[in-house]
Amino acid sequence: MVAEAALHPESISPGALKTEDEHRRDICAVGRWIHERGYVASTDGNISVRLDPRRILTSPTNISKGMMAPDDMVVTDLSANKLSGRRNPSTELAMHLLIYRLRPDINAVCHAHPPTATGYAAAGLPLNRAILAELVVSLGCIPVAGYGTPGTPELTEAIEPLVQSYDAILMANHGVVTYGPDLLTAFFRMETTEHFARVALVTEQLGKQVLLSGEDVEKLLAARARYGTQTAAVAGAKCPVTSNDDADRVTLTRRELEALVDEAVQKDRARR
Ligand SMILES: [Zn+2]
Repeated sequence: MVAEAALHPESISPGALKTEDEHRRDICAVGRWIHERGYVASTDGNISVRLDPRRILTSPTNISKGMMAPDDMVVTDLSANKLSGRRNPSTELAMHLLIYRLRPDINAVCHAHPPTATGYAAAGLPLNRAILAELVVSLGCIPVAGYGTPGTPELTEAIEPLVQSYDAILMANHGVVTYGPDLLTAFFRMETTEHFARVALVTEQLGKQVLLSGEDVEKLLAARARYGTQTAAVAGAKCPVTSNDDADRVTLTRRELEALVDEAVQKDRARR
């Protein structure tokens, strides 16, 4: 049954131990998913899989990720030399290769521009507030890497300090990169990042966020093993930001604020 499911063009099975043909079909399926969900426009985005310790299978450049066929894929080595394929590899291949070099546990990388998470990236805002229990468990928090010109070493330098400690990164003024032990997990992390960004945006629109406490977050992190969650995401100072971190924030009613302003004006007048 599992093998049949893996062959269906619209579904992919978890796990990284597959034939190269299966990986080619999986990349096409994930390409369609990110395109259908509006995570990419035009020929944006790129997806890759580690075939073995020396070879990477990557989506090609200059093609809609929703319209790829298995034989469009390109095989390269870990130094970005093309080994086979009639097309050219993704222009962001260096970013994928950096992640594979730094993280031996990672076998798949997904890069896209999902609008809400990319909006946070363009605003320079990390998705790091403890507003959803499941996000604390799955990704911890999602930092923003500094801006780097796409397709240049600037971009890899910007994300390099974050790759070891997170499984999803916002790239300033650009998009999102997620990665995992297999392609389905890397895709799910992209989906989770965009979903979380949408929820965070709604709380901003409502003008209110109720943060989990530091104790709540500790309990969730301790439960990661119970949920079977495997993530490199670390928790540390203000990651994620909890209600304890916000304890010195003051909330005033309009009347209290007016009274404070009046008092300050009176004091100022008295001094003159
Ligand atoms: Zn991009």
